[in-house]
Amino acid sequence: MDSPEPFRSSGSSPPRDASAIDSRLGAGHGFGPSTTAVHAGESRQKLADAIADPIVASSTYTFRDTRAILDLLEGKTSREEYGRYGNPGERVVEAKLAALDGGEMAVLFSSGMAALVGVLMTWLNAGEEVVFFDECYHRSREFCRRHLTRFGVGFREVKTGDYDAMEAAIGPRTKMVVSESPTNPHLSIVDCARFADIGRRHGVMTLIDATLCTPFNQRPLESGVDFVLHSATMYLGGHNDLIGGVVVGARERMQPVRDLRGVMGGINSPHNCYLLERGLKTLALRMERHNANGLAVARFLESHPRVEKVWYPGLESHPYHAVAARSMRGYGGLVTFLVKDADWEATARVVDAARIPRIGPSLGGVESLIEQPMVMSYWNYSPAERASFGIHDNMIRLALGIEDPSDLVADLARALEVTA
Ligand code: PLP
Repeated sequence: MDSPEPFRSSGSSPPRDASAIDSRLGAGHGFGPSTTAVHAGESRQKLADAIADPIVASSTYTFRDTRAILDLLEGKTSREEYGRYGNPGERVVEAKLAALDGGEMAVLFSSGMAALVGVLMTWLNAGEEVVFFDECYHRSREFCRRHLTRFGVGFREVKTGDYDAMEAAIGPRTKMVVSESPTNPHLSIVDCARFADIGRRHGVMTLIDATLCTPFNQRPLESGVDFVLHSATMYLGGHNDLIGGVVVGARERMQPVRDLRGVMGGINSPHNCYLLERGLKTLALRMERHNANGLAVARFLESHPRVEKVWYPGLESHPYHAVAARSMRGYGGLVTFLVKDADWEATARVVDAARIPRIGPSLGGVESLIEQPMVMSYWNYSPAERASFGIHDNMIRLALGIEDPSDLVADLARALEVTA
């Protein structure tokens, strides 16, 4: 007699429709973000009665007999088949992410960029066009400008926050409009309801890259946006130890994305999925600290005599503070500022003098990071190009982790003295 085996085709394997795994903690069930982050998407009773999900390190999944194959092909069972189409840990993470963002289906990719490429390649055809707000991640725009255009897909950019320009750019070929919110490094905030409304009125799809806010601070799908995208490398993973990405939206729009991913193959390994599931459990707690650290450091910098300007949406001085205050739970852990009367070398000395933040790209992990965008991301651009992107030689971007705010403030106060 067969013993129960959780991952056989008996029906006990995780369903393909991940959002149904634990519907009690799915979207719209009234649980708070921390309860959702800890429990959503998980079966109550797991392999060996363990509380943690297993890492199912398998590239393929076997069938008991030919009937089991046919049951799968005929849609009578739901189970794993081959690792490029998914793995059990990934189903759990996808269901958790769908619940967190209030969407029907999440599709996980091997990186944030793979997620963006996946959703754009799914929905854009030759002869159609995509319009971006111009503060979106430069690699996302590079993909459109240099690669999508090779396949006959048009690409336009309009100034971030200029909704009239966005509407004017929409033509009969436009299929999708894309923005990030908050943007990086200026932290501009998009009015998601207004953005979604433009999409609805013009019959185009809308996508928000919400990497910097996470579903803890804002849920763009609730404002009517069609797709929300995150680099899971950042706050969702949260520990600077994995690369991943996710797109969330309505089932009918996401199933084709999942189908293309199965062909593209940009999937996460079972080990990576485990790390992401583990990271997600503390998302709400971590975001509370990232938000608190962001506000404390931004306020400190704004009052510092050696600081020329601070960008942080939680500050009243930020141009998008009003929209941020009415649409976001918190303002995140990114703070950008200009060092007063400093050239790029004096600014670099401040970066080098900081003892707590490590120097590096990326954001959203528990360890604080510091970088000078002109050096880290724009060194090979001309001064005119840098100016057009709003990148100043004396700009520093802080991606605050979860250290104690007083320690971060004291460390920055000391680092700023090097320009004195
Ligand atoms: N979206 C934003 C806002 C990002 O900052 C990044 C990376 O920096 C990406 C997407 C791409 O994510 P990944 O590095 O996971 O491919």
